[in-house]
Amino acid sequence: MAEERVSEAGADAAGLAVRLRGVTKTYDNGVMALGPLDLDIRRGEFVSLLGPSGCGKSTALRLIAGLAAPTSGEIRVSPVTQRTRPGRDQGQAIGFVFQEPTLMPWTSVRGNVRLPLKLAHAPAAEAEARIADALASVGLADFAESYPRELSGGMKMRVSLARALVTDPDILLMDEPFAALDEITRFRLNNDLLALWRGLRKTIIFVTHSVFESVYLSQRVVVMTARPGRIGADIRVETDEPRGEEFRTSARYVEYCREVSAALAPSYSGRSAL
Ligand code: ADP
Ligand code: MG
Repeated sequence: MAEERVSEAGADAAGLAVRLRGVTKTYDNGVMALGPLDLDIRRGEFVSLLGPSGCGKSTALRLIAGLAAPTSGEIRVSPVTQRTRPGRDQGQAIGFVFQEPTLMPWTSVRGNVRLPLKLAHAPAAEAEARIADALASVGLADFAESYPRELSGGMKMRVSLARALVTDPDILLMDEPFAALDEITRFRLNNDLLALWRGLRKTIIFVTHSVFESVYLSQRVVVMTARPGRIGADIRVETDEPRGEEFRTSARYVEYCREVSAALAPSYSGRSAL
């Protein structure tokens, strides 16, 4: 036990939000999905996990979120900081955005964003203020009374993001959140997400299979190998901040995309293009 406490303090002192050591996951059907994986993510970092379909990206996020247990290895998520945030507990240190917005169709945008606060039994008055903040942060202040069926795909994803942010989590896990959106909407959400990250300085772990998206968004692109997913490359993307559309069309961006693509290529060798 003493040893555990020491390593936990060590992780925190090093400014780490998440630390994985020798993490593997084998599902009950015998599929070895992941690992062994060693990964450190610093507080406030924006990291993308990039890899081919089926390499274990979603599995990795689910393990970090505590939605599933690793088969072996150790996962540490830094304890919540001292700030008092009523309406949340340890379990809400993490916000999760799924590929599908998964909104409840029978309630309004406000009702959907309220859900995590309701589950945490947050006081009503405080909950309403938090919902308003979360909706404003994703540009949906005027849509609180709308129903999911009235919203575009991009707006539904914004609601999903607001729902993840409403408990003010330290870490935001995003699993291919923009994959189903058209390109213009995706670019817009990319920019809005970067603005949010700059403002809130949360740790973001963003899963994507798009090289272009990973380079555009993240400070670090962690390239995973084919299943069982391990780390094939860990590439730091350095450019002038804040990033905007001019980065997307710059020579530097193209060069990073080339480098990341090259790191990803071995994961696809021997696989059918279909
Ligand atoms: P990715 O998100 O990178 O596409 P996943 O983490 O979803 O990959 O899945 C990794 C591998 O584990 C895949 O081969 C997938 O079929 C398998 N897998 C995922 N979830 C389960 C499960 N609950 N039971 C059995 N196999 C699973
Ligand atoms: Mg997945």
